[in-house]
Order: sequence, then C-alpha cells, then structure tokens
Amino acid sequence: MTRPGKERLGVTTLEDISTLILQSHDLGETLKNIVTLVARRMKSEVCSIYLLDEDGLTLRLRASKGLSRKAVGKVTLQIGEGLTGMAAESRHAVAIQEPQSHPRYRYFKETGEERYHSFLGIPLFDRKSPLGVIVIQTKETRQFTAQEISALSTIAFQISSIVINAHLLDSIRRKEEETSRFIRQLEESRKPLISPESMREESRSAALRGTTAYPGVVSGPAHILDSGLGLADLGDEGQAQVEEEIARLDSAFEKTRIQTIFLEKRMAERLSESAAAIFHTHLMILEDRGFLERLHDEIKQGHGAAYSLKKIVGEYIEAFERMEDPYLRERAADMKDIGRRLAANLAGQEDHMPQFKEPGILVAREILPSDMAMLDADYIMGIATEAGERNSHAAIMAKSMGIPALVGVKGLLREVTPENQIILDANSGCLYIDPPQHVREEYRRLEEDSSRELHRLEEFRDIPAQTADGTRIILRANIGLVSDVSIAQRNGAEGVGLYRTEFPYMTRGNFPDREDQYQLYRRVVEGFPGQSVTIRTLDIGGDKALPYFSPPKEDNPFMGWRSVRVSLENQDIFCTQIEAILMAGMHGSVKMLLPMISTLDEVRACKKVMAQARVNLDREGIAYARNIPLGIMIEVPAAVTIAEQLAREVDFFAMGTNDLIQYMLAADRNNPLVNRYYDPLHPAILRVLKDTTDVAQKAGIDVCVCGEMASDPVNLLALVGLGIQEFSMAAPFIPRTKAFLHDLPGEVARKAARKALGLATSDQIRAHLMETLQKIEKTDGSTQ
Ligand code: PEP
Ligand code: MG
Repeated sequence: MTRPGKERLGVTTLEDISTLILQSHDLGETLKNIVTLVARRMKSEVCSIYLLDEDGLTLRLRASKGLSRKAVGKVTLQIGEGLTGMAAESRHAVAIQEPQSHPRYRYFKETGEERYHSFLGIPLFDRKSPLGVIVIQTKETRQFTAQEISALSTIAFQISSIVINAHLLDSIRRKEEETSRFIRQLEESRKPLISPESMREESRSAALRGTTAYPGVVSGPAHILDSGLGLADLGDEGQAQVEEEIARLDSAFEKTRIQTIFLEKRMAERLSESAAAIFHTHLMILEDRGFLERLHDEIKQGHGAAYSLKKIVGEYIEAFERMEDPYLRERAADMKDIGRRLAANLAGQEDHMPQFKEPGILVAREILPSDMAMLDADYIMGIATEAGERNSHAAIMAKSMGIPALVGVKGLLREVTPENQIILDANSGCLYIDPPQHVREEYRRLEEDSSRELHRLEEFRDIPAQTADGTRIILRANIGLVSDVSIAQRNGAEGVGLYRTEFPYMTRGNFPDREDQYQLYRRVVEGFPGQSVTIRTLDIGGDKALPYFSPPKEDNPFMGWRSVRVSLENQDIFCTQIEAILMAGMHGSVKMLLPMISTLDEVRACKKVMAQARVNLDREGIAYARNIPLGIMIEVPAAVTIAEQLAREVDFFAMGTNDLIQYMLAADRNNPLVNRYYDPLHPAILRVLKDTTDVAQKAGIDVCVCGEMASDPVNLLALVGLGIQEFSMAAPFIPRTKAFLHDLPGEVARKAARKALGLATSDQIRAHLMETLQKIEKTDGSTQ
C-alpha cells in the first residue's frame, strides 16, 4: 500500500494551495484546483468539496476530481444525510472502510460513483457553523493514518478561510454596488440626504491581492517604510575634479564596508546566520576590484562620483533583472541595496530608519537586506510589499521570523496611507485597507479560530511530556541554525537532541574558524540553561555540500565519502570543531555526537582526535569542559550489529532513523521513485530499533531517536512501546507530540509494540497500530 508522505500532504500542499488561490480567478476555479491537488497528493481516486447553500441546510457538490462533472452543482444532500452529511453534522472527521456497508451510506446516481472501499470526510466550518465537507474516496481499502487526517484537517481549515473570504469579498462587492446605486438615486432625485462623498468615504475598503510569502492572518496599523535616498535621486554634477571625486567615492565605499560588517553582525544576532550571509555577499561586491575600477574609469571620463555610481550600479541591476532564474533576478535587490547605501554615504546622509511605536503591518515598495537588519522585529506583525517574488528578501525575512507576508501587491503604495488600518490575510492572498466593521468582525473570528488550535497545544508547552500513566518522556529539538533556538524554546523543547552543525558551515563563504564556531555553539548552549545540547560533528556529503569544499565526483554519494569519514581525513578541520565544542561545554550541558559510525576503529580514531583537541587547548591555556559525554549516531546497519561493542566505547546512542531506514531498506531517502520502499514500519526497522534499545539499556547508556520517524503518532506509538523514552524532532511537532503522549497509556503502547514485533509485513503492523490508536481515541472521546 502506498501512503502519501508527510511532506507531500503537509506543508507543501498548504503552500501549493496558497499558490492555487492566487492563480485562480474565482471560488469555483480555486476549489477545482484544490481537489485536483489534494487527490494527487493523497493518491486517491476521488476528492470532492461540498459547500453549504445559503439556506444553511443543503450541502451541494461544488468541485470534484473523480466524480462525474455533471454532478457538480447538482448533487445535494442535507446536513446529517449520508456519510458526507454525517461529517458536517458531527463536526468530526469520518473515516470508514467499505462505506457501502455503513447504515448512513447513500448512493447518488448522478455522480457516476463506482465502488469505493474507503471514505474520509473532514468538515469545513466557520466557528461553530458548518460550511461544508471535503471528501476523499479510494478504490483500495485504506486505513487513513492519524497524521493524514490531521494534515487534511489543516487543509480543510485553509479551505474554510478561502470560503469565508470569498463570501466577504462578495459582500464588499455587493455593498459597493448598493452604495453606487444609492448615490445614483440620490443624484437623480437631487435630494441628497447624505453627501455622496461621505457615502463613498464610508464604503472605502480597497481589497488588494498579492502572492503569499508566509501564510497567516493579522491586522493592525500600516507602518510605511520610506526607502530613503535612492540611486534615482542622484544627478550628474557635471565636470568635476577627478581626484576629489575618486576620493569622495572611496570614502563612501569605506563607510559602506564598515556599515555592512555592522549589519551582518546585527542580522546574525536578530535572525540567523543564513540571513546574515547576504551581507557577506555585499562585502564581496564592495571589495571587488573590477567594480571599483569601472567606477573610477567613469569618473576619469569627467563624470561626478554620484552620476558614475548611478550609471554603473544601474547597469548591474539591469543585468540581474534580465536573468531568467527568479533567484538570480532577486539578487538585483542586493545591488540596489548596495547602491542605496553608497549613495547615502556619498551624500553624507544619516540612517533613515523609522522608529515604530506600536506593532503594525510593514508596508513597503520593497524591503532590502539592510532594512531587514535595522527594523525592530517586535513591531512587525506582518509584511506587504509591492515588489518581489517568493525568493525576495521580504519573503526570506518573513519566513525566518514566521510572520504572515504578501509580496507583489500591486497598487499598495498608492492605496495605503500611514493612518490606515490593515487586515493582511496571507492565507487567501488578500489585503484590506480600512475594512468596514463587518469585515473586521469576520476576521476577528477567523483569527480566534486559528489561534484556538494553537492555544489547545500551548497548554502542553510548558509541562513535561509524559504518557497517560505518568512515564516521563524527554522531547528535545533538532536544530540547524541559531534562529531555531527560539523556535525550539517557543515549542517547549527540553534542550537540543541534535544540533546539525553542517548548516552554519553551508551558509558561509569558507570554513568558520574556531572562535566563530565556539561563539555559535555557545549561543545555542546558553539558549537552554539547565538542559542538554547535543552537538553533532560535521555531517557533510550525501545531499549536503559545502560551497567552498569541492567533494569528489561520486556515483553514489550516500554510500561514499561523507560525514565522519570526511572528518577523519581532514583532521585539522575536525580537531578545530571538537575544540570549539569542548570550549562551548563551559557554558552548559553539552554532549558530542559522531555521525555515520560504521566501525569500532572510527570511534577510537575520533577519540584520539578528541584527545589531541584537549592537548591543544591545554597548551593554549583555554578553558574547556573536560568530561563531555560522547555519543554516536546509529544510522548504518553495521552499527546495529556491533552495538554491544560500540556501547562499551560511548555514553549514548542516537538512532538516526532517516539514514538507518534508507540503508537498511536500500531505499534512497530523497528519491520519490522508491518512496514506498522507504517504510519506517517495515518489520526489519522495528526489530533493529528494538535490538539497539535493548543493547543500550543493558549497557546502561542513554538511547534516543532523532530521525523524523518519531513525529508521526503511529510510529511514535510503536517507539514508546519498544521502551524508548527520549526523542528529538523538529520543534513544531513537540506540542502535538506531548498532547498525543498525554492520552497514551504506556501499557497499551507496550502491548501494541509486542504484537507489532511478531507481525510479518508493514501493512499488518500499520493496521494494528492504527487500530490501537482508534481504540485510544474512542476511549478518549476525540477524533484526532
Ligand atoms: C538521521 O539520519 O536520522 C538524522 C537524524 O540525521 P540527518 O537527517 O541529518 O542525516
Ligand atoms: Mg543521518
């Protein structure tokens, strides 16, 4: 049985839905595109959307992939009628196998419906009132996983916002039409009861459209960003003293370089190393001799410094803007930013950054990297820009900060003035300026709805994770960048179970030195006082390349020169990293983790490098943590087989299921063609996880799972049942995992895992675990 992958049905589908909305012209087209996308992602023969008619009682088929086209708009049923009506009535997901044998099943001839063996209906609603139902039907008998149901519920939530939004737009349009009609009547009767101007004023509520860069809904006052002095403001001062102009330009370059270093530092502190890396590129451009020489040549031809700057930078910008590749096209914004700062320094202009007094929506023609570094993130609830695509800096900034954003909003700066109140609906790609009362109320309700689910999970944020019978489970975060620290903290992670250090290496122009690495690790460690942080040594190769470190050409990179193998052959780089980790150990509870271990010799060789690192630090008189625990990733099958010997050498095991599954089952973790072979519930996987856990427990060392596997509740049920009590996962999964564990009795999990270990196929294992989950849900009285 082929199951849709989490990533296929999850975030990407939501992003794709946002794109679809923007590409469609009306609600009907949007719904049609959504059903096609969801059917493809769910690998289902049918996906349909039913919406409630205005009478509030009749559900009408409004879009379908799989059912007869003639049925769309015709087939209706009442709330409570058939399985679809049952989902709307109960306001809960309805998942049924062999639906024809269900007493509530109803057959509609017009749909051309064949025999479908599974049915999944998820209600769409606005607060408490039903709006419709999204239905999935498959020919094969399929048991929908809790994760699929939850992902489809999120999609249903997004469809609900689109439907509400379409109703709102309709009502605004109707109101505008009514107003114009009324004004015409007044003018005709020449008896104005109310002035047409004030009437127009009253209904002034422009709605603009843009491209979603990061979804969400926010409202607040407009903060308009003035872009300051631009290249366009520079004129030709005519014949100038060549030497003087060159000196003026060189001094502006020097000031801009210093500013850029400052901006990089500020950005790294506020957002992330990856965001700060933009300024590295700026520095490289500012230090490029060719760029400076072209400017000098222009001045030597008799032009002023300002004019030369405008001309040469303008040529660079044009060249970037002509590029086919959207990513490269966006780099024109970097050139504009550099040009703007050089122009301001040439004119002796001070910084123009506005100081906002209350949180609001940032409105700008475009946001350049230096704006990003200077703005105070606490005062920005949302971002709207007139220019820009998905790769724009505004979009990158919005994603790093996790705030709703629309880019490419045409007419934005013409329509918005500083006093305006804005509703930014980045779910549906709409921005409302000074919306009327009823629109504001609708959106308030929408915001409440979306925060309700978050609030439910928030309860769990600060309480320790435990099963229903009180078994303590540790949930840590997998992180890659310093900006992930705050995300992990916000989601209630108990420290970091896996810090993938290759990410900071990947975003730089060359190998970070020991001091840089130490400062970076120290910031992560200090983010989790009293909690442990596991720092994994460099794990490059496979699909992770460093731009400045050319790997050999390999036919099979995942089986090749990667990870600890690279570290052991580049001992100076490896030793430097270990020294930085040992130094960071002075600031909290640090553990060190070695990736991709396949032999005992590798562990011993790594220990020798560790010893060398200590000698180096002692020699330099630098303080470091002498006894940091050392662990290894169990992600190569050979490590499972020699786990007993390995356990004698180290303090803990971290089971990296992402790689372990791919190596155990010979199925590339990134290749969609073999996706169905990459199965976390393959009996062989459960057995190796059980064996490794037993070995660790017998040896008295800690063991955790840090692959993505644990973020799926069906898998987690088995893992907890196998006796694993420590997990590390992407931080946003932590609150829902806590909520799931809270209702999970330990004994039920153990029994389910015992039975699963005796089953011969993944399908049997999955069916058994699903059945167990459904029983728990029934006892608990909830559906998800
Ligand atoms: C793993 O392989 O499971 C793991 C956690 O490491 P990565 O995904 O970085 O390879
Ligand atoms: Mg791995």
